[in-house]
Amino acid sequence: MKEGIHPEIYQTKVKCACGEEFITGSTVKEIHADICSKCHPFYTGKQKFIDSAGRIEKFNKKYGNLNKNKK
Ligand SMILES: [Zn+2]
Repeated sequence: MKEGIHPEIYQTKVKCACGEEFITGSTVKEIHADICSKCHPFYTGKQKFIDSAGRIEKFNKKYGNLNKNKK
């Protein structure tokens, strides 16, 4: 086995945009994440609309009338 070919593994602190912090192993010392297991919609069951508001507005404009016409 050659020495020096394996990257150093740190106890990396991951800071999420939601404020959650946790420790994981990584080759970098600190990670800034936009989403983590605490705030990911898959885990929370809630949908977070960070950058998709425009898309939802477009969707509602396109399909909103169809829903209104439903009885
Ligand atoms: Zn988070």
